[in-house]
Amino acid sequence: MMKAAVYKGIGHMEIEEIDTPHIGDSEALVKVEMVGICGTDVKTFVRGHPMFQPPCILGHEFVGKIIKVGENIRNDFGDATYVIAPYIGCGECELCREGTSQLCRNKYGTGGAFAEYVKVPAEILERAAFCVPDGIPKEVMVLAEPLACAIHGIEKARATPNKKVLVVGSGPMGLLIGITLKNLGSIPVIAEIDEIRLNIAQNCGLETIDFGKEGFENFMKEKPMYNSIILANDKVDLVSKLIPFVIPGGTFELFGGMPKDARLEIDPYYIHYEEVSIVGSFGFTEEEFKQAYDLLCDDPDTYGKLISKIYEMDDIHEAFKAAMDKSNIKIIVNIN
Ligand SMILES: [Zn+2]
Ligand SMILES: [Zn+2]
Repeated sequence: MMKAAVYKGIGHMEIEEIDTPHIGDSEALVKVEMVGICGTDVKTFVRGHPMFQPPCILGHEFVGKIIKVGENIRNDFGDATYVIAPYIGCGECELCREGTSQLCRNKYGTGGAFAEYVKVPAEILERAAFCVPDGIPKEVMVLAEPLACAIHGIEKARATPNKKVLVVGSGPMGLLIGITLKNLGSIPVIAEIDEIRLNIAQNCGLETIDFGKEGFENFMKEKPMYNSIILANDKVDLVSKLIPFVIPGGTFELFGGMPKDARLEIDPYYIHYEEVSIVGSFGFTEEEFKQAYDLLCDDPDTYGKLISKIYEMDDIHEAFKAAMDKSNIKIIVNIN
């Protein structure tokens, strides 16, 4: 038996004793140590999610120890802590072969990680599990999954070094994108309306623009131009408002998920005459997960600033409440 935080429906999660996952020959059992609360977990908890039907266990940003492996898996993982991707592409379909494994329809995935143990398939252990080095705090390594998504967003937005990039939204993802752009040599500016979030971005060493009423009006007057704009929130009306600020040939990216009934209305002038590309970004490839791991190993201190608080699993409700509080960035749950 094991302890798990079972999601039972909107606003309802309970710590329960449930069966420890049974592993097959090509699976391993991981003793979870720490899990990050993701925006998706919060959304699911607050308004439900078509991909996560209750009862189920949420949580996909985790580190842990590989304590048991099936017959078909090499057993040299030892006592170290590993950061493990929650999913990878099948590696065989056309989408995977084209290098777009984030879109694979046949992904390998792990179980939900707000539990003492989680089941991991051999393919993920072989291709997307990395040892947390001594000296790197485990809670920082939990950022590998959201950082991989940020790296994917940067790639899709063609926000390569020396490019001016406007990142709209200073939530955990906007900040991860901003910090990483800076690390990679691009010139990011973070736009945000919330004062607390603006301060957090500044504390991370990022340049900011206040998108509050007056700030936004000034911005519209000044007309700064960007190679790429990355929309890291769900404000669909900002797409048509901000597209004129992309330089000809530049890129506008929808990074954040939009509400289900959202519809876009854009002046096609920008797409045809200005050749602005509108792109989306969702998830990550296993290569990007490895890149995220490398970046965290290189600069744990800057990324570590995004960790606001660590809660125990018994206090999971408090932890979710904290994750909804704008003054926090990343909330971590300590499992074992
Ligand atoms: Zn996540
Ligand atoms: Zn595939």
